Amino acid sequence: MKLDAKALRYLTSEDFRVLQGVEAGSRNHEVVPTPLISQLSGLRGGSGVHRSISNLAKTNLIAKVKNAKYDGYRLTYGGLDYLALNAHQKQKVVYSVGNQIGVGKESDIVVVAHSSGSQRILKIHRLGRISFRTVKTNRDYLRHRSSGSWMYMSRLAAMKEFAFMKALRENGFSVPEPIAQNRHTIVMELIDAFPLRQISKVAHPEALYSELMDIILELARFGLIHGDFNEFNILIKEIVEPSDKGKGKAPANADAEESDENVRLEPVIIDFPQMVSIDHVNADMYFDRDVNCIKRYFQRKFHFVSDVPGPFFADAKKNFLKNPGKRLDVEVEASGFSRKMARELETYMKEVGADGDAGARRDDLDDEEEDEDDDEEEGGSEEDEEEEQEEQPGQSSTEMDESSQRLEKL
Ligand code: ADP
Ligand code: MG
Repeated sequence: MKLDAKALRYLTSEDFRVLQGVEAGSRNHEVVPTPLISQLSGLRGGSGVHRSISNLAKTNLIAKVKNAKYDGYRLTYGGLDYLALNAHQKQKVVYSVGNQIGVGKESDIVVVAHSSGSQRILKIHRLGRISFRTVKTNRDYLRHRSSGSWMYMSRLAAMKEFAFMKALRENGFSVPEPIAQNRHTIVMELIDAFPLRQISKVAHPEALYSELMDIILELARFGLIHGDFNEFNILIKEIVEPSDKGKGKAPANADAEESDENVRLEPVIIDFPQMVSIDHVNADMYFDRDVNCIKRYFQRKFHFVSDVPGPFFADAKKNFLKNPGKRLDVEVEASGFSRKMARELETYMKEVGADGDAGARRDDLDDEEEDEDDDEEEGGSEEDEEEEQEEQPGQSSTEMDESSQRLEKL
């Protein structure tokens, strides 16, 4: 679904309190009964609460559900988006909302702006959007989970991603600067670059290849495996340097040849919800998958095959034991994303087939043969039962200034 910034404009402070009430009630009720909404919103019942409920339902921030025993409401993704965006606005992290630039299987990526005008990325995690499909095991699994699991799991994914991004950034890895996390969303630095998937030519693939393998090894030295290290999750920054600087550091360019010898390609790694520890039981499998993904992509896209075998997990592990970096897997655990949370998220992601976006897209590359101009990323078009909302056509730069004034009063 798309982020509907327009809905952000028309809420009164009562509406907002009722929305918060539905959120609070959703934590342990699949369907929040109306009297409980009144109670949780801290408003005296009566027509005010009902008016707010009806406003919220009209804008699809909550949805009416008829249950066998009683009628009530549940929070929608739209409602949760509203609450998160409102919090980011209050904390002056986000001032306005611009275009949505990506719709993934488990996330939406939106360009937002700070009041200074600088652009940022809002990543909205949407675990569970694929989980209500017809796959029976998923349904059964979800039925046995506590209610609101999509909300909880999406929040875990955001917490995990934010914690890892922070730890990586602080330890010198090339990742976007994490700025804030609220509920199922994170705000981070916008990287002005294309994913590797969209780079049609690289002048020196061997240099970029070895830089990517070095990143995989360096992550392992810090106790981590990315787990979804693929051409969509590696952004390639082009850095123009004076001609004799940066030689041998992956100089290259997508389209030109000689004149661009002084363009250095710097990979920036993104997308961390599936990151695992080097001590994970399947660490070797994840490690090999990351390595092979890059090998395969370079072979297909750039016709480059390295003479050097590996890197192999055993060597990465040996290096990790002999010459370890700080253990970021342990650091993240200590930062509040606990081992229990990690386990819950991992189980859920496996159950709903959300552990990495590589699989499906890589298969799609298989059919592509030599079609190097196919830069289109698959638009996520999962049917979403959640949605009663109509898809909005991409709005450009929906200013929230009106709404932000209003929201700040709340
Ligand atoms: P998903 O989990 O849905 O794969 P990603 O975090 O990989 O989400 O983001 C999806 C796409 O959005 C990326 O392939 C990239 O094109 C774009 N993107 C994500 N984060 C950023 C960022 N910080 N700066 C620029 N583009 C980004
Ligand atoms: Mg991705």
